[in-house]
Amino acid sequence: MRIIVTGGAGFIGSALCRYLIHETNAELLVVDKLTYAANLDSLASVRDSARFRLLKADICDAASMESAFRQHRPDAIMHLAAESHVDRSIDGPAPFIDTNIRGTYVLLETARRYWRELEEPKRARFRFHNVSTDEVYGSLGATGLFEEESPYQPNSPYSASKAAADHLARAWHHTYGLPVVISNCSNNYGPCQFPEKLIPLMIINALEGKKLPVYGKGENRRDWLYVEDHARALWLVVTRGRVGEKYNVGGDAEWKNIDVVRKLCGILDRLVPGRRHEELIEFVSDRPGHDMRYAIDATKMKQELGWRARESFDSGLEKTVRWYLDNRRWWERIRSGVYRGERLGLAADA
Ligand code: NAD
Repeated sequence: MRIIVTGGAGFIGSALCRYLIHETNAELLVVDKLTYAANLDSLASVRDSARFRLLKADICDAASMESAFRQHRPDAIMHLAAESHVDRSIDGPAPFIDTNIRGTYVLLETARRYWRELEEPKRARFRFHNVSTDEVYGSLGATGLFEEESPYQPNSPYSASKAAADHLARAWHHTYGLPVVISNCSNNYGPCQFPEKLIPLMIINALEGKKLPVYGKGENRRDWLYVEDHARALWLVVTRGRVGEKYNVGGDAEWKNIDVVRKLCGILDRLVPGRRHEELIEFVSDRPGHDMRYAIDATKMKQELGWRARESFDSGLEKTVRWYLDNRRWWERIRSGVYRGERLGLAADA
């Protein structure tokens, strides 16, 4: 299977590339603009594979996308490229509108032209997989879960731009018949996540003896999924998902932010003795419009596609902490450059 993966140098995209190269026979063309969030070190284990190629390009650039499709002749596109950080979207929404909405539109149109000219059986097999987030559904009250039919009520510029992309993908299926599948996943964590997101920020700050800034009182609840479980889910959705359908992906691991930070501190106390890391926790003023609770009902993924999260939250967190301990070079370069002095990173959520 020949696949275009957009955003393959990012956190989830690189985990997906590692999965596809190591666990399948897929031939990949990664299309990535290599923004601040990309890190080619995350692709070190796959870059030498004959089944892996990287094109540095902006998904908003229609001519580049056209030539990517013509050259790679994909059986599927897995579209992950996005501006992905809620805080950045609050500070400056413009790139979110460009990449997440316009970029998705450019890809849908390029895919539609390419798919229209395909011959059977390749035409029937083609898939456009829009990779999305549970944040499109808005915020839950104390009970209930997001289902595939839950109404879209995005609250941040980030989630609104992802919701727009989902709507475009759905419309391109409904109107033009493009074979679209959509997946909406809960918060991911694991190796190679940029240290502006909650879990890597807390681990790295703790390792550097810095404060662990938690928004509000840390009461916001998120549903967590280990990134390798997400990569496996994405492969099932693109190969076995039904055209025109959407699939919710989540790990049944709902935790308050403050409890996640406390768990991390407990692991760090064990692995890096000599400090009580909880003493570094500091509560800071809340993010504007901060969604209170996300939780996913992943029954459809389980029943239809036989998917289940393999990693428990405790074992996944421990693996993640160990990865950041063993891969200082990966994050020290990020911390020393892009990140220094920015308001972003004062606190974090996924
Ligand atoms: P990320 O920010 O780590 O990576 C995004 C990648 O997209 C980067 O490599 C970046 O260079 C690339 N990119 C950005 N703008 C581009 C453009 N205009 N053209 C080409 N490439 C561009 O993001 P992530 O956390 O890996 O998320 C990947 C996808 O999964 C996103 O669509 C996100 O909305 C979705 N998602 C993320 C989570 C999560 O918890 N991180 C959960 C559910 C869904």
